[in-house]
Amino acid sequence: MTLSPFDKPGRFWRGNLHCHSTRSDGALPPEEVARRYQAQGYHFYCQSDHFLAEFNYPITDTTALRTPTFTTLFGAELHAPALANGEIWHILAVGLPANFAPNAEGETGPQLARRASEAGAFVALAHPQWYGLTLEDARQIAFADAIEVFNNTCAVQADRPDGTYLLDQMLLDGMTVNAIATDDAHFRDTVNSNADAFGGWVMVKSETLDPAALLAALKAGEFYASQGPELHQIEIRDNMLHITCSAVDRITILGPRAKSETLPGKSMTSAQLPIDAFLGDWLRIVVTDAAGRRAWSNPCRLTA
Ligand SMILES: [Zn+2]
Ligand SMILES: [Zn+2]
Repeated sequence: MTLSPFDKPGRFWRGNLHCHSTRSDGALPPEEVARRYQAQGYHFYCQSDHFLAEFNYPITDTTALRTPTFTTLFGAELHAPALANGEIWHILAVGLPANFAPNAEGETGPQLARRASEAGAFVALAHPQWYGLTLEDARQIAFADAIEVFNNTCAVQADRPDGTYLLDQMLLDGMTVNAIATDDAHFRDTVNSNADAFGGWVMVKSETLDPAALLAALKAGEFYASQGPELHQIEIRDNMLHITCSAVDRITILGPRAKSETLPGKSMTSAQLPIDAFLGDWLRIVVTDAAGRRAWSNPCRLTA
């Protein structure tokens, strides 16, 4: 069995799903944000500004920023009351229609996320560690497509980048949820305006660089997340996991509770690991390169 998306036709396209511009609290106009992502080798990005009244509920039409080798998805970071700890929700919605209506009177975060999902958007729980999102909160948006396992701005600005702890709890709770890495870049750092950019992205498998095809692939979980390493192929044969990737120094399989298996090495580009301990459960794979940069597969449920 080949894991998704390595069994799908097409190629990988590199994209950033989460960033801010002068349409909300970012420092750069969307044109410059798009230019920097394209200059850094990305194939697409989503301008996801804060969907708040104070910014006039921006969903930026980025159609004019598309080129034959770079495209855009429309989106926003949605906000509404409230986590159990009182913080307003931060919900990433990629692939929103341009006419997505502002928050209704009294609309809650889960209701807003549901409306975005029904409008066709890829819905993700943003930076859970940064603002204290709990499993109890996550259960209210159990239909979310993904969770940010890494948020670069939260790494740079707050040393709270992680989403894997909550991802594992959600999987154990029976939810189906995938893993994205994002920048959430605001380009506001006073010393280096790129400090919170280009640190985490998704690699989406699709036959074309077409916004609708990319969104469909995101919704179908046909991607992996990365800070640098590339995943080329992951398959399961004879109760062994076979992986090929760019050069990494560690390959780890994670499963429920304390289940994990790790293989250290030097500049490994292919490896095999036993998966007997994960049969009948879910697993996910993390590879780490010599610089400590990781790539995360989406979770996969195995039959016994
Ligand atoms: Zn946020
Ligand atoms: Zn954000």
